[in-house]
Amino acid sequence: MARYTGAVCRQCRREGQKLFLKGDRCYTDKCAIDRRQYAPGMHGNGRNKKLSEYGMQLREKQKARRYYGVLESQFRKYYEMAAARKGVTGENLLSILESRLDNAVYRLGFAMSRPEARQLVRHGHFTVNGRKVDIPSYLVKPGEVIALKEESRSLDKFKSAMEANGSRPAPKWMEFDKNNLVAKVVSAPAREDVDLPIEEHLIIELYSK
Ligand code: SF4
Repeated sequence: MARYTGAVCRQCRREGQKLFLKGDRCYTDKCAIDRRQYAPGMHGNGRNKKLSEYGMQLREKQKARRYYGVLESQFRKYYEMAAARKGVTGENLLSILESRLDNAVYRLGFAMSRPEARQLVRHGHFTVNGRKVDIPSYLVKPGEVIALKEESRSLDKFKSAMEANGSRPAPKWMEFDKNNLVAKVVSAPAREDVDLPIEEHLIIELYSK
């Protein structure tokens, strides 16, 4: 599946906030946005322009896409799925994004960033209900069980990630057995489970035009 391959930190600078796409580095003074607090490109260092309503909606959508590492076409499909479901479309959209397997792996602390989690899923380190799933966009469902594969458990990268993220609580929509590195999805993610500063109503307004 296609993915963004450009300079990662530019995305944070474009959105004017940390998107935490580079793991450890994001928490150090090497973070690009801490050093250059303006948008990339030749006009990025100019005066702050007031955004139009459309501009604000667009930026919010781009920010959400970038947090979750989703390209435009897939993001629109998620919007259509969300609109077809019962309930509030914006909350449905966030629930779908949060249900991605790469996000679940990140939220469980197996990776330092969502892009890293995506790569780990692609490399086949995880199972869902006992079967290898190497599709980052796979949407986990209540009742499913996510596990780190037996043969991956001794890898240093997982040991150090679990150590670094040990104090990070698992999201309420999953029950995580940290000793056995197995998590059960107990419910669909709710709005309050999404810990990102996203104003989803702006995204819905943009797509509803
Ligand atoms: Fe964003 Fe992390 Fe790069 Fe900082 S280091 S700009 S938070 S990706």
